[in-house]
Amino acid sequence: MNPAVSFRGVSRHFGEVRAVDGVDLDIAEGEFFAMLGPSGSGKTTCLRLIAGFETPTAGDIRLFGESVAGLPPYRRAVNTVFQDYALFPHLSVVDNVAYGLMIAGVPKAERRRRAEEALAMMALPGYGSRRPSELSGGQRQRVALARALVNRPRVLLLDEPLGALDLKLREQMQDELKALQRKVGITFVFVTHDQGEALSMADRVAVFNEGRIQQVGTPAEVYGRPRTRFVADFVGSSNVLPPALTALFGGPPKWASLRPEALRLRPPEGAPIIGTVQGARYLGASTRLVVDLGTGPAPEDRADIAVLLPGGEPVPQPGARVGLTWEPAALHVMGAA
Ligand code: ATP
Repeated sequence: MNPAVSFRGVSRHFGEVRAVDGVDLDIAEGEFFAMLGPSGSGKTTCLRLIAGFETPTAGDIRLFGESVAGLPPYRRAVNTVFQDYALFPHLSVVDNVAYGLMIAGVPKAERRRRAEEALAMMALPGYGSRRPSELSGGQRQRVALARALVNRPRVLLLDEPLGALDLKLREQMQDELKALQRKVGITFVFVTHDQGEALSMADRVAVFNEGRIQQVGTPAEVYGRPRTRFVADFVGSSNVLPPALTALFGGPPKWASLRPEALRLRPPEGAPIIGTVQGARYLGASTRLVVDLGTGPAPEDRADIAVLLPGGEPVPQPGARVGLTWEPAALHVMGAA
């Protein structure tokens, strides 16, 4: 089966700026796919290339096996939900949702029926006559989703769709978006700089940095087996160990990552590794400790490592000497630097 979206050697340069730089990527039909990366890493430009709002300076983009070179946005089987929702303030909710159908020449009665159907699916029945200004942030988000789905795209593109919502609503909408994708069964590609959001929602994640993809994989793969130091640093809160520390933890003298939750405290007597607690940060369900494993008094001898203590465990005071144990399988040696 052809991938829903495929990139081959795709670049988009703006003068000197390599917004997207030689990207190869396949997104399968029906996947919930996340593009994750820091600000300016090229995620939005990739989305705009798929939608047809940008043209590649090099490379080939295919949707369901067909090249989209030269195809304007409205001829592509994709639709976009923008971060600011881009609703028309002077139109009612139902007219906002039906707008694309009107442009496509769908007769009025059918437009209305399909718009009401889409609003019902987004749990917004009866809201059709309101203006966007009379809705909450979460409701506006649902209207934007209804509008994007009403003309039945095969791929839905979502640019930081939850960015404007507060934390509680964000978590609720994460669950709703997952459920929605299962219900409509189409491919979702969403852009986020929030690693928690990408890991909890996506079937697969592409991690971007400086216009390039550093790694593509399932959340468990990019979290547990980061290929590069950038991925280890950006995804989760990993300890990135220089070769000397990796050796201390029983690995080869190479760069490695070790998740803070794979480390456990024990009494220092007879422990394989001993350190000094530098500080503790209470996180609610857990506490993040920073332990200095350095051996000498000079600042460059310091080697801090983060340890995640499950809630309920006693938290040692700064200055306390602690021993460490770890799950050897959690020590992940990286290839490329
Ligand atoms: P953010 O999360 O902040 O939206 P992003 O990962 O989506 O970031 P892009 O918006 O794709 O990143 O931008 C990638 C790079 O390309 C940035 O350096 C940006 O300034 C640059 N860029 C994007 N669009 C243009 C443009 N139209 N003209 C010039 N430079 C651009």
